[in-house]
Amino acid sequence: MNLSKISGIGFVGLGAMGLPMAGHLATKLPGQIKLFVYDINQASVDQILTDHPERVVKCTSAKNVADKSSIILTMLPEGKHVRSVYMDGGADTICASDVSGKLLIDCSTIDTASSVAVKKYIQTKSPTTSFYDAPVSGGVVGAQKGMIAFFLGCDGNDPNLPFLTQLLKFMGKDIIPCGGLSKGLAAKLSNNYLSGIIAIAVSEAMDMGMRSGLDPRVLAKVFAAGTAQNTICDRFCPVPGVYAEAPSSKGYTNGFKVQLMRKDFSLALEMAKRVGSRNVLGDAGLATYDGASNDPRCKDLDSRVVFRYLGGNEDWKKEADDSTAKTLE
Ligand code: NAD
Repeated sequence: MNLSKISGIGFVGLGAMGLPMAGHLATKLPGQIKLFVYDINQASVDQILTDHPERVVKCTSAKNVADKSSIILTMLPEGKHVRSVYMDGGADTICASDVSGKLLIDCSTIDTASSVAVKKYIQTKSPTTSFYDAPVSGGVVGAQKGMIAFFLGCDGNDPNLPFLTQLLKFMGKDIIPCGGLSKGLAAKLSNNYLSGIIAIAVSEAMDMGMRSGLDPRVLAKVFAAGTAQNTICDRFCPVPGVYAEAPSSKGYTNGFKVQLMRKDFSLALEMAKRVGSRNVLGDAGLATYDGASNDPRCKDLDSRVVFRYLGGNEDWKKEADDSTAKTLE
């Protein structure tokens, strides 16, 4: 494919991630290309139409998007939504359109079984259509800044890779081919399992150190210099007030919602079970994210709110300042 020969690109699913991603396409695509969009939520469609009136065209269904576009991207919540937008939704689906020779890219984080089922359905219906899983990492802020990473379900020799890289770079910075169909999703779920476990481990280690009288800023320095060094502690520290830019220091806002971590963690465990991978931390991790997702003190907040859920002391700084003031009196 060649961008100079394309007249329409489609985008279905304009939520927290999809809206800024589509916004980057609207801003950066070459002039002649129109962006055909659809979402069941009219407010998001209105938002992108207002922001990019010259570029964006509103569609009436996913099929309508597919009718007008050579490339269609989707960014939907779960496997059931992806199945319904591509194949299970009757006359309004992407596959109800003639998608021969088109490029379909699903960026949602879903179960690998749904992604493979969609790919097989497409292949049976139209062998010349290409379908890729391309889940992302980097969160809403990364999507807004155009800095997300894409984990692509294709191998390094795929003839579409150079074009996919060119296209996805409008929305992100790292495009990593993961080796074949559904391997982008397998990589994403493995990544989120690890990152979720690390966030719990950092919260617990911080809590035991703080209860032993240590300042969490000192603990963070120790972890960074020692064998425990990790990005969650360095840049997303679950303890408020250690790293100013972390969601925890902003009331656990503007991060990766704990319910999304619960969803990804559960998908990762399903995958592990299916492929026969033994994980001793999985059940405890899932129970923690399940509990935090249902806890009114944590729901809708950044997933590193597990520090709060596990009983960590968020007022440590005020308590330390008060005690210094008392000593000086
Ligand atoms: P979201 O719920 O904000 O957005 C999903 C959008 O899909 C909504 O606008 C919704 O109206 C739309 N939608 C649902 N069903 C539809 C249908 N049948 N037809 C058309 N539109 C439909 O979710 P999000 O936060 O944007 O996440 C999307 C995906 O990206 C999820 O799989 C999520 O796990 C993943 N993800 C999210 C983040 C994050 O920080 N939010 C980070 C990385 C990956």
